[in-house]
Amino acid sequence: MFRLDDRVAIVTGGFRGIGRSLCVTLASQGARVVAVDVLDEDVGHGTVVEAKDAGGQVELLRCDVTNEDAVFEAFEGVKKRLGRLDILVNNAGIARDMLLMRVSAEDIEKTFAVNVTGAIYCAKAAIRPMMRAKSGRIVNLTSVVAELGNPGQVVYGASKAGLIGLTKTLAREYASRGVTVNAVGPGYIDTDMTRNLPEEAKDFMLAQVPLGRIGQPQDVANAVLFLCSDEASYITGQVLRVNGGMYV
Ligand code: NAD
Repeated sequence: MFRLDDRVAIVTGGFRGIGRSLCVTLASQGARVVAVDVLDEDVGHGTVVEAKDAGGQVELLRCDVTNEDAVFEAFEGVKKRLGRLDILVNNAGIARDMLLMRVSAEDIEKTFAVNVTGAIYCAKAAIRPMMRAKSGRIVNLTSVVAELGNPGQVVYGASKAGLIGLTKTLAREYASRGVTVNAVGPGYIDTDMTRNLPEEAKDFMLAQVPLGRIGQPQDVANAVLFLCSDEASYITGQVLRVNGGMYV
């Protein structure tokens, strides 16, 4: 179940955090995975090592998803080198947390550029080979914040809600071409993004999790793996929530 043998997958933001776990999990099930990230390649080295330990293979590709030309070039390179592109996981994301009155134009622009525009550029660069193959999987990482709301995350929440609209629209646009498009909505997950939150914010988040624990990147990776698999071929346009019951 959930094998991805011979599939080629691109995971954005794959050098650390949830993205690392996504890369390792897809690779462990047989996919050839390319991790795309803006960080230095030495940060991504851990992804390569963990994948190897799990019996899989990940290659690293430095690329900023907010640069359309760079994304196009990077994806073309993958298609030429590996011959196909079956799976895209739009995981790269940033959060700039603050109350509405402190939000600047630059915060809005940068957050939307990575979280929404970047996902659109990547989907645009990935869709042609999927259409040609009459098969493909796109999974977008949204957040519980998009549906639940969270004080101090006005820009982030708006951008992640945008990804749900993107998911549903792409799902309808490419269903007839055999491409499914879904979103995964993590809740409170243990990564660098949440480790740096103030202690009160962490306690507040944890108190809202009925299952009573912080989520692990692997919890998210399991959901993404399922949506990328053949077993999920009749699921499109959905948000699969991985949040310990924070939003039901
Ligand atoms: P993280 O900050 O640890 O990792 C995000 C990755 O995206 C980093 O490797 C970063 O370098 C990369 N990235 C940022 N800007 C980029 C760009 N312009 N081009 C390419 N790569 C870029 O965050 P994480 O916690 O692992 O989150 C991964 C995804 O899950 C994000 O989309 C985030 O919004 C979402 N999410 C996380 C949580 C959580 O609790 N951690 C909850 C809900 C949703």
